[in-house]
Amino acid sequence: MIRRYAFYQEGKVSNSTKRKVAIIGAGLAGTTAGLGLVNAGFDVTIYSDRDRGSLRNKVPPTGTAVYFGKSLEYDAEVIEDLYDIGNSTGMSVRIFSGAGESRVPVLAFDSPFKYKAQAVDVRLRADDRLARFLERGGKFEVRPVTLQDLDAIAGGGDLTLVATGKGGLSSLFPVDPDRTAYSEPQRHLLLATFKGLKNADGQFAYRSSDGARHNWFNIHAEFGETFLGPYLHKDIGASWAFIGFAKPGSPWIELFNSVTDTQSARDVVVDLYATYFPEDAALIEQLQPLHEDRHSWLLGAVTPTVRPAVAKTANGNVVASIGDAAIAFDPIGGQGAQTAVIQTALLIRALKSHGGKFTYEWLQEQFDKHWQHRGDAATEVTRLFLGDPKYAAHGELLFPAAAVNVDIGTAFFGLLSEPQPLLGIQTRDEITNFIAELAGEPAGDVLAKFKSPKAFAWAKSVNDALAPS
Ligand SMILES: Cc1cc2nc3c(=O)[nH]c(=O)nc-3n(C[C@H](O)[C@H](O)[C@H](O)COP(=O)(O)OP(=O)(O)OC[C@H]3O[C@@H](n4cnc5c(N)ncnc54)[C@H](O)[C@@H]3O)c2cc1C
Repeated sequence: MIRRYAFYQEGKVSNSTKRKVAIIGAGLAGTTAGLGLVNAGFDVTIYSDRDRGSLRNKVPPTGTAVYFGKSLEYDAEVIEDLYDIGNSTGMSVRIFSGAGESRVPVLAFDSPFKYKAQAVDVRLRADDRLARFLERGGKFEVRPVTLQDLDAIAGGGDLTLVATGKGGLSSLFPVDPDRTAYSEPQRHLLLATFKGLKNADGQFAYRSSDGARHNWFNIHAEFGETFLGPYLHKDIGASWAFIGFAKPGSPWIELFNSVTDTQSARDVVVDLYATYFPEDAALIEQLQPLHEDRHSWLLGAVTPTVRPAVAKTANGNVVASIGDAAIAFDPIGGQGAQTAVIQTALLIRALKSHGGKFTYEWLQEQFDKHWQHRGDAATEVTRLFLGDPKYAAHGELLFPAAAVNVDIGTAFFGLLSEPQPLLGIQTRDEITNFIAELAGEPAGDVLAKFKSPKAFAWAKSVNDALAPS
């Protein structure tokens, strides 16, 4: 009895000897850091401008936040995988050009992923983290933190992390011009979640042998892109996430801007597919608005921005940023949430093993490591998916190659999970070598097999699809 008591005493770390961490913001980045650091034995307080119920139920999700493969492994360092719904196994791509009578199919491919992708409502992910954080003794203070408050908070602890997203306190961290490629948004965005689409697997077969387990990525060469895929909504469970990406000057912008509620979000998406992607319209018409959650849609635009991630407050106290407050991505490459959890998991590892003070220099070194490991590549893969002129040759060569060789499409979407190889595939020669290695034959031979399609298969109406053949 006495021995067991003594053992307990030795193993216990009192709050007064724990290193004290403050985290500002309770989105995905803040709650991931909070839970991971409480688990690692830190004394953690999360400050949030919204209470728990409001974070879960009174705001739209920051984004769709699909985890593509590798980020799931980092996330598992903080929390076990709780979700069976919203998982997908590949991407069905169709590219079109022109409008009305002159609309033509350009190419299509259907790529299985070499990993699992998971689209879970980010409000649910954050709330599940917050629940565990509180159970394990984390403190949660509801108040908007001003720059003045931040100074005082940072002066009273060992480490302060700013996780306030793209707005919030990110202005404390000036934009890094060397690492930031754009000064304005590259896409206007519409995010919306829907229900409906019963028996989806069979109905999706005209686009993918893996049915509804493959997401759709429809590209209109002049106007923008659309994504549709399985999603786990926090309240209703299995559902569908749509993201529309309108290019500057695209007629889609006006369409997106007409969305005012869940019903108009659904009507706009149906209208968009009917006009620009009518092959898919019979399925899209089955989508139903998610009236259960009036925050199930979002309009916006992101200027992709990299910040130096470490700053000093008015009195010289050091603060570091994580998540969107450090790097804000256009969502077309699906990198924001993934990079947030990877940055956070690696920072937690480093914080655990570092016995000294968390100085400006030490924190800057951690961010530089993160930039080398993921941030830079994630930023570049976003430029690739945006069709940035820097990546024109990639689009020209990789898309037709993917249309004739499934391994090339799979490797292309492998970059969403692990973007790092892209840094070594920059020149035309490097791209053709990449194609040749994957295909086992010269890139010229691969590309010679590509023929423009005359038409793409159409979805059947729900009655046709369910009728016995
Ligand atoms: C349309 C769209 C689709 C996306 N799809 C993907 C995808 O497929 N894959 C992917 O990886 N990423 C995706 N993202 C990006 C992803 O959603 C974000 O990167 C991620 O959710 C950011 O989390 P965060 O915690 O950094 O910021 P946020 O979610 O913005 O959280 C910040 C929190 O801080 C709080 N706060 C702000 N200021 C203060 C203050 N002064 N005091 C206290 N609290 C404050 C806010 O209320 C908020 O709760 C997408 C984004 C968009 C817009």
